[in-house]
Amino acid sequence: MTKQPFDLLTTRRLNCATAALLLFSTCAALTSSLSVPVAAKSPVSPPQLLRSSLGSSASSSVRELIPAKYRKRYQKWKGEYLRTEAGRSQWERYVHDPHFIITVAISSEQGEGAIVDGFVWDEAGRLVAATITLGNKLDSGYPSSINYPITCSLAPGNLPPEVKGNILAATKLAHEFGHLNYISKMDGRRYQLQNRLMVRYNEMFYSNGHNTHDPRLLELAQQMGGTPVSIEQDRESWAEVGAILYLVERLPELNHHARLPRPIRQAIQTYYLTYPDRAQTAN
Ligand SMILES: [Zn+2]
Repeated sequence: MTKQPFDLLTTRRLNCATAALLLFSTCAALTSSLSVPVAAKSPVSPPQLLRSSLGSSASSSVRELIPAKYRKRYQKWKGEYLRTEAGRSQWERYVHDPHFIITVAISSEQGEGAIVDGFVWDEAGRLVAATITLGNKLDSGYPSSINYPITCSLAPGNLPPEVKGNILAATKLAHEFGHLNYISKMDGRRYQLQNRLMVRYNEMFYSNGHNTHDPRLLELAQQMGGTPVSIEQDRESWAEVGAILYLVERLPELNHHARLPRPIRQAIQTYYLTYPDRAQTAN
């Protein structure tokens, strides 16, 4: 049965109810609506460049547009992510690719969420640029479990209080790199087609009385390989692989947790039961 957008929204509010955040749950929707093949617009004004600790060589293709007032927290979040091999390999993969330009920014507009957009593809459909924008309150707020089962599992009480903010922020950053990985493996022409057709689908859906059996909607769903809801869920669940890779390496290192905290371990186990073919991605 096709899940309708309204139902999904309602469900989201009911999950992780103590801290469910709609801002973060708009990650994919905004990514979709803003992912057009034009140069990225910086959400930070005026832009201030910050040299990267890992990407300061001549071959670096990272632009860090971090307002001075957010630099300290940015370095903390980024440093936390780069403590792991998973984080370092992700960072270097994009920063040292001479054919890829990655921009990282912080904006109060994103609040406790984050987004990746500003995509640019070349004529062959290869992704060549993207912008990750982190919210200025990235170290707080937990998304719903529907699209973010791993990030949601970091809910209050599941991590030592002295590190939970930084780990939460780094996990959200890892999630955005997960998006990048997924999108960079796709033919950009298909990704953009999905985005265009999802907008058309939703317009029809809201104008036809929410009838998912409308032949025009069925035709659109066939063309783009799913409904807007299922495509969004697929994109988000793939992005959660980024969070898993970071957490399974980082959490066992914490002083008081030789193993992954149980709720997080269970969330990861459930993820791989749901998507068994993705287990090799973590190796
Ligand atoms: Zn996302």
